[in-house]
Amino acid sequence: MQLTYPHMGEAYIAVKSLLDDVGVKSIIPAFTTSSTLKLGSSISPETICLPYKIMLGNYINSIKAGADSILITGSCGPCRFGYYGPLQRQALRDAGYKDIDIIILDPPREGYKKFYEALKKVAGGQHSKILPAFMNAYKVCCEVDSLNELVYFIRPRAVNKAKIRTIVNEFKKNVINTKGSVQMLELINETKNLIRKIDIDNSLNPIRIGIIGEIYTVIEPFTNLNAEERLGELGAEVHRSLTVRDWVRNTVILPATGRKGFKLEKKLSRPYLPTLIGGHSQECIGHAVHYANLGYDGLVQIYPMTCMPEIVSRSILPQVEKDYGIPILYLIVDEHTGEAGYQTRLEAFVDYIENNKPASCPQARNGRKHATFNTGLPH
Ligand code: SF4
Repeated sequence: MQLTYPHMGEAYIAVKSLLDDVGVKSIIPAFTTSSTLKLGSSISPETICLPYKIMLGNYINSIKAGADSILITGSCGPCRFGYYGPLQRQALRDAGYKDIDIIILDPPREGYKKFYEALKKVAGGQHSKILPAFMNAYKVCCEVDSLNELVYFIRPRAVNKAKIRTIVNEFKKNVINTKGSVQMLELINETKNLIRKIDIDNSLNPIRIGIIGEIYTVIEPFTNLNAEERLGELGAEVHRSLTVRDWVRNTVILPATGRKGFKLEKKLSRPYLPTLIGGHSQECIGHAVHYANLGYDGLVQIYPMTCMPEIVSRSILPQVEKDYGIPILYLIVDEHTGEAGYQTRLEAFVDYIENNKPASCPQARNGRKHATFNTGLPH
């Protein structure tokens, strides 16, 4: 079996560690570009969500590189994600990729037996290695978040911002050459040490912006046009509301121990959206309130065009904006998103916050606390 999986931000780092530790041969898809999206779009319904199209493009690139099986996560609930696996399987068959096996890893709440059976299929004869490999991959997820949070802190303060970009890009390339979670953790640690050595201007007090919205577009830099990097280089300290670690912790680990995931976010969203409507819309509203409570200066909501749950969040967020006095920039992305217009909107938003901070964000004066969703790692 030559297994592949779609890109979703840094997910490939943890998935590669897991598969290496279990001893499964895998192919990391080529990093997503506009040709990946074009490829996926060519066999997708026009109005389906953007992640669906990009994932298909990732699969085809990996199949061309020799992959014969695809691992994806599944879902239930009132949004299209639950249909991705069966629909993509059919789309690949229709496009002539008839012998490709798609293994769908449904969250354990759909039944632990099903979840374990899918993992067993991935692991072949190496069942006993699954649990330790999974826990090591989770550790990798935590360390990747910690690395990102260090980057979020350093980037707006860095004297030479190009240096941080070079280190991060080098790290992404080096991931491909590592083998197993031990080497991966070492690489992350080395990268953190390099970043800590970057000269920073400690006199700066950057504005803080939380990134909220649909999980794929929040996490995957291709779809959000590197929003974190752009905002950081404009002088804002960002924080990403959803990460791969959060997803694993809240969807797999907590339910496995009989606890509920995303408890804080759901509690905070209750006055605005008391019902699950699919995707992470309740989490999006909960994150917005939490960031406001922490004194953040602004929020950016990012979501794909035609994403039903986030369209609902979008219609609720102006009320959060009003109730908490926190400005929100709304960015909808699809294959026609233009870079220049996107950059202009980010620049205008950062300028707006910097110029209006005392009036628009009274919480900012009440001391600065860092976002600590779920396990929350310190910088
Ligand atoms: S959350 Fe939105 S973008 Fe993601 S699968 Fe559901 S509808 Fe599509």
